Amino acid sequence: MKLRLSLEYKLIFATIFFAVFIVQFQHHQLSDRVLHEMVFAKESRNRLLVDTVAPIIAVNLAFGLEEANRAYLEQISQKNGDIIRLELIAPSGKILYRFARSSEPQAAKNNLNFRSERIFDTLDGTLLATIEVSFGDEDYRALMRDFDALNIQTILIAVASLIALILVIRRMFSGLRRLRQSVEAYDPKRHNFTLERVKGSDEIGVIHNAIVGMVERIADFAKALDQANASLESKVIERTAALEEANAALEKLSMTDALTDLPNRRYFEERFDHLWQLAQRNRSALAMIICDIDHFKKFNDTYGHVMGDRVLRSVAEVLKSVLKRKSDMVARYGGEEFVLVLYGVDTTAAVALCENIQEALRAMRVEHQPISMSFGVALVYPYIGLDAQCLLQAADEVLYDAKEAGRDRIIVGECDQRIN
Ligand code: GH3
Ligand code: MG
Ligand code: MG
Repeated sequence: MKLRLSLEYKLIFATIFFAVFIVQFQHHQLSDRVLHEMVFAKESRNRLLVDTVAPIIAVNLAFGLEEANRAYLEQISQKNGDIIRLELIAPSGKILYRFARSSEPQAAKNNLNFRSERIFDTLDGTLLATIEVSFGDEDYRALMRDFDALNIQTILIAVASLIALILVIRRMFSGLRRLRQSVEAYDPKRHNFTLERVKGSDEIGVIHNAIVGMVERIADFAKALDQANASLESKVIERTAALEEANAALEKLSMTDALTDLPNRRYFEERFDHLWQLAQRNRSALAMIICDIDHFKKFNDTYGHVMGDRVLRSVAEVLKSVLKRKSDMVARYGGEEFVLVLYGVDTTAAVALCENIQEALRAMRVEHQPISMSFGVALVYPYIGLDAQCLLQAADEVLYDAKEAGRDRIIVGECDQRIN
């Protein structure tokens, strides 16, 4: 597994390693050097002491001045607090002088704390005695203790500095961490960015402020976008409504006959299709009446088209007025011909309706002229497979018959119910 450390921890670990390395390196260098110097100085001092006293002892021994010799050695031993044992030994092994500082423990004999020197007669070179001196190494041990203390102090200072440094780094990175969390959780729609600009001008502060500034710009942009969207939306709604209104008006216009204000043939065809299917589904009867104004050409020729138009409008009013049910419909089929479709009625009812129309027409006069119409009636129970045109055809056929038979009459026809 590959260990991934954040920059924060990398910094902390790097600092720890660096601090430990520096402290250890410095300490090692210093202690090594000081100890070396000390050992060297102590050895020189020991050697110098023994080398200095040896000739005097040699003279004293040569002249047999044993008492003076002892007094001299006593003086040397007392004056040098460093000496913990001093012995002058005759070649026979006899101890000529002994000094021992009892409080001091005996250390191992080495160059640092022990020196032995043979003393010869300066005239004939005979061995007179051997002097052995043991030196205390308290100063050496004190130095070692000082080093240990220094070591501990240094480590303590280093640890304290490290803790302070870690706290500073963590504090520094806590801002960065908060920034990261805020940026990750930021949703321009909710505008949930709560961080403010900071005063500090360190790198993290600069980045922080740059991000805050960017989020502010995003928020401004999102707001402007929202406003634009809202106004666009309201405009679209407005325009859509206007368009729907215009469309509805256009639709009505395209389905309406301008002269009579009745539905036109286009409307009839659409609606008839619908009624046909409805009747088919409900097994209902569908009746159709086609009616045509009698001798209208003549009327037009006599009274003019304006009067003819008035007749058409009056007839349309009559036709509208006789229809009572919502499911019934009337349309101007073309010229002076109209078509009515009645849903769910029988022939008798259809004929009764035609009679109602006739009656209304009889009461009507245009230019003192009576207006009459001829009616072709047909009825069918539409079933699946039956062509809707058969009803129209049947009604049209009997309308023709009504004209032939002398006009102003109603004829009921049969629908030729062939399956196509
Ligand atoms: P019939 O009794 O056999 O129906 O005879 P008719 O004269 O009514 O029939 P014809 O088909 O010969 O003439 C129809 C006339 O209707 C011809 C036309 O001048 C008139 N007409 C058709 N549309 C309009 C219209 O919109 N306005 C006016 N004023 N006359 C129209
Ligand atoms: Mg006619
Ligand atoms: Mg006609």
